[in-house]
Amino acid sequence: MAAAPLFAEIELVTRPGAPMTDCLDWLFEHHLLASRMECLRCDGHVEMEYVERRDVSDNFTWRCPRQMCRTSRSVRTDSIFAEFPKIDLRVFLRFIVKWVEGKLVKDIAEELLSIGYVSMHTLCKMCRVLRQVCENKLVIDPPIPMGGENTVLVMDESVFRKKPKYRRGRRARPIWVFGIVRTDVQPCIGYMEVVESRDANTLLPIIERCVLPGSTIYSDEWAAYRRVQDLPNVAQHRTVNHSRHFVDPVTGVHTQHIESYWNRKKKKLKAMHGCMGEDTASYLKEEMWRERYARTSREGLQNVLADIAQQYQV
Ligand SMILES: [Zn+2]
Repeated sequence: MAAAPLFAEIELVTRPGAPMTDCLDWLFEHHLLASRMECLRCDGHVEMEYVERRDVSDNFTWRCPRQMCRTSRSVRTDSIFAEFPKIDLRVFLRFIVKWVEGKLVKDIAEELLSIGYVSMHTLCKMCRVLRQVCENKLVIDPPIPMGGENTVLVMDESVFRKKPKYRRGRRARPIWVFGIVRTDVQPCIGYMEVVESRDANTLLPIIERCVLPGSTIYSDEWAAYRRVQDLPNVAQHRTVNHSRHFVDPVTGVHTQHIESYWNRKKKKLKAMHGCMGEDTASYLKEEMWRERYARTSREGLQNVLADIAQQYQV
């Protein structure tokens, strides 16, 4: 099925007053709920029956057909929805759409109101589950190494400051992030990692892991980068002296790609007001997923549903 109808389909099966069966059928079809179930209590492989039960919130359940057993299992068994048994499936599905669109939690809460109330606290937990899906995807398909022959990568470090949570006025520990971006795609696709220190011993091994042989790297003249040229997979390292100019007038080397990359990441993090637990490292991973797999909402929805289906084998 083409990607375009996904939004319309979800809109339809989650509309106010939509019968639960529409949503369940859609979730079965997209492998987000198990379409068959075995009884765990019975020896051998006894296939359970899918039966209507008005007294359970999902309206349907799996039931063992054996007269002596009659055990039930939830339709949510093994699925992502099992983690939030109290959230209506239609509400959860529509939440995924809002999350893909990059909406802030407070806006998601408001937009979901027409089909159901979900607390900010629960929504943050739901966001964390989707963020974990993103993190897992980056383990399955690692974002690095990148670059290669005839490509230019730009690297830099930037500080993501943590807000002091309890002791007001006390300066929080700065969080340094190393980043490296490709310049051949706009907006930039990059790799980011929280680092304990900005010295050569910390940064050089990371740079070595990040780049494919033959890459050219641009950076500023930060001391830790002095030996980058010696790394075997770096073809060329060129620098711009930021105390003198932003773009080197002779070589044309600049680091504006990563400057604007940092600006976008920080602006978004600030807008989130730390409601996700202020975990910078995991925020950066979600962003790396979004850069690659959600360049449009349509693409993002298709990809997040595929990743959920892959990671929650039902
Ligand atoms: Zn049974």
